[in-house]
Amino acid sequence: PPAIAIRDVVKRYAGVKGSEGKLALEGVSFDVPEGGIFGLLGPNGAGKSTLINILAGLVTKTSGTAEIWGFDIDTHTRNAKRSIGIVPQEIVFDPFFTPYEVLENQAGFYGVAKSLRRSEALLKAVHLADKRDAYARTLSGGMKRRLLIAKAMVHSPPILILDEPTAGVDVELRKLLWELVTSLNDDGVTVVLTTHYLEEAEQLCDRIAIINHGELIANKPTREMVDMA
Ligand code: ADP
Ligand code: ADP
Repeated sequence: PPAIAIRDVVKRYAGVKGSEGKLALEGVSFDVPEGGIFGLLGPNGAGKSTLINILAGLVTKTSGTAEIWGFDIDTHTRNAKRSIGIVPQEIVFDPFFTPYEVLENQAGFYGVAKSLRRSEALLKAVHLADKRDAYARTLSGGMKRRLLIAKAMVHSPPILILDEPTAGVDVELRKLLWELVTSLNDDGVTVVLTTHYLEEAEQLCDRIAIINHGELIANKPTREMVDMA
């Protein structure tokens, strides 16, 4: 089975005072195959975050179905949620928590047993071992983004979803984030990322779906997509 299966998903945001709300997804269907790096590409306002937030359980869809790792998000919500790690766009950390504490708190939140925790290893993997006990407020933007990735992997989900992971970051950090994503994928994690950079999708993803105005307009292996252009 696919890592994620999305069928006929519609999202209409509530309108203000009885007015018709914004139709953000107009009936979207696609599968994310297991084991690859899947890019959801589209301009601002296309519906990418809406889709990610539905999978994350932060936005309720109007209709349609979605399965994560074989778990229906409506009927097997807990298992579905535990099968993904989400790297959100916005960075929010308590300024007086340290990277180590951020990861330990998240592990506690997921009920990961102390003996199964791997905060040190995760910090090492995102090159933050030397910042283990630094206050989050002292970390650079790039360090915080790396910490977000480690945080999303605390419960060892088989799928990692990143919402615009490199929006507004410099070239150097972008390369580092690409390396991190690739190395997680090499370790067997299925990756889904949203981006509005065609170049990023081409370089990083083995499959690209294009979304525009809430509709999926293409879904192909990257090499076929590049041939088209
Ligand atoms: P993307 O992530 O591709 O930029 P979004 O999913 O954020 O797109 O937005 C899709 C559409 O839904 C846009 O027109 C946006 O303005 C609208 N939208 C997003 N969030 C809300 C919301 N909470 N309420 C109303 N409309 C929203
Ligand atoms: P459960 O495992 O009990 O189903 P949920 O996934 O429903 O837990 O999440 C409960 C709360 O934890 C939510 O309010 C959500 O915002 C927060 N949460 C879940 N996952 C993360 C995460 N990766 N990073 C930060 N907060 C999270």
